[in-house]
Amino acid sequence: MTEHFATRAIHVGQQPDSATGAVIPPLHLASTFAQDGVGGLRGGYEYGRTANPTRDALQENLAALESVGWTASSAASTRAFSFASGLAAEDTLLRALLKPGGHVLLGNDAYGGTYRLINGVFAQWGVGHTTVDLADITATRAALAASRASVVWLETPSNPLLRIVDISTLSAIAREYGATLVVDNTFATPALQRPLTLGADVVVHSTTKYIGGHSDVIGGAIVTANHEIADKVAFLHNAVGAIAAPFDSYLTLRGIKTLELRMMQHSANAQILAEALDAHPAVDRVFYPGLPAHRGHEIAAEQMSGFGGMLSLTLTGGVVAAREFVAATRIFTLAESLGGVESLISYPHAMTHASVVGTPLAVPDNLVRLSVGIENVTDLLDDVTAALTRGRTGWMAGSKRTSVSG
Ligand SMILES: *Cc1c(COP(=O)(O)O)cnc(C)c1O
Repeated sequence: MTEHFATRAIHVGQQPDSATGAVIPPLHLASTFAQDGVGGLRGGYEYGRTANPTRDALQENLAALESVGWTASSAASTRAFSFASGLAAEDTLLRALLKPGGHVLLGNDAYGGTYRLINGVFAQWGVGHTTVDLADITATRAALAASRASVVWLETPSNPLLRIVDISTLSAIAREYGATLVVDNTFATPALQRPLTLGADVVVHSTTKYIGGHSDVIGGAIVTANHEIADKVAFLHNAVGAIAAPFDSYLTLRGIKTLELRMMQHSANAQILAEALDAHPAVDRVFYPGLPAHRGHEIAAEQMSGFGGMLSLTLTGGVVAAREFVAATRIFTLAESLGGVESLISYPHAMTHASVVGTPLAVPDNLVRLSVGIENVTDLLDDVTAALTRGRTGWMAGSKRTSVSG
């Protein structure tokens, strides 16, 4: 198979239909498949929960994308499993990796829903957890030693603070302590970062975000080259049944064809916005890995081929300014989620991260998160600038420009 990312994205699992020559393989909605005598399966298909050709095409494609640039033998053993949502994928993965009495070490700015799943669901089944700043090597080692966690759960860049962790370093540390390293690669996607090739054991995705890319499908995925983990996940995929539906798989595959192009444009637009916002008087701080002053910028430049489309900012005007800003943009739509072609703005404290308020994972109440889309960047820039200066309660009075010039 061809080696490069965009070629794989467009072709793997997508060969023209052998019966008709249709360039785009048909969408298989059937829940069951005719057998030629008991057990006489044509092409291995039996029942739609167990396997479906459209889902298989997506899984084959995702495995090929996460293993671009890897050795042929590692790439050949990479398998992917598609789920009904990112959290369904996480649930299945945690069931595969843990038993009652187990322990998870996760980053202290993990996705709110991941924390809720571990703290609100797995805790009831006797699974413990510890949160730590995974970018802090000393603290991470201490937490691993104290907790004896068998799973380390990493997001890099993280949500919503865009914290960067060196995947190679963390995978070496996890291995030293006998722990499995899981990387939630939702923000970067395999177009920008391939954690398996950097030593991670498992990659998990919310394909709802950039991979689907058009805000019209919910999905998740697990990708791993570890046979033991893959076999357990394969068993649970069928036994628990939180599978990706055929139409969802089709939409996701369709989105993937432009993934690399989109990620390049998302990154270019976000870089321009990050630099402009960083210089804006109403902005206290910008969190974007593409800014040289961002903690972990060099690591991101090393392990990613672009800095992505997500950025967060804190406002000097505090909570009032943040709430006003998110309500004042016109192109950026106020909504949860991220990763679509259209720009979204959110207020994590009361939206995506409402479930972690009062926990160690709580986010600042003057923080705003942008999912920078691929619209014309001048329009995006005008939109955020106008929204920032549209402040109605005089919070600009406390801004940086006032203090600098006054
Ligand atoms: C959205 C998201 C998830 C959860 O995925 P769903 O598809 O919403 O279930 C997990 N991790 C990250 C980083 C996310 O952004």
